[in-house]
Amino acid sequence: MLRCPSCGSDLPYNHVHIAKPFKCSVCGERLCVGSLYLRLNYWGSVLFSVLVPLAFGLRGFSLVLAIVPLWVVISVLALILIKRIIPPKIERCHRELTLDGREKPLL
Ligand SMILES: [Zn+2]
Repeated sequence: MLRCPSCGSDLPYNHVHIAKPFKCSVCGERLCVGSLYLRLNYWGSVLFSVLVPLAFGLRGFSLVLAIVPLWVVISVLALILIKRIIPPKIERCHRELTLDGREKPLL
């Protein structure tokens, strides 16, 4: 189970967003997942979308055609599933993150 770093209450998995900040439902603290986790998740998805069609023997142009839709599917699945398999580090959040884990200052 994931915990709020601010008040220590349990955070249900479906309240935890990997790609964007979210609020603790108990104390209202703005929380987010560590940027390293997000970055590993992103590059893991990219790696899998290349390795899976390679393992199925796709090469050349058909490999390129397979990577993009596969990457979309794997990224979405990873965002939903990975936090249940490898619990992310939850931090107090005072920044915005882009999908590939770069930080973007708050407006
Ligand atoms: Zn809290």
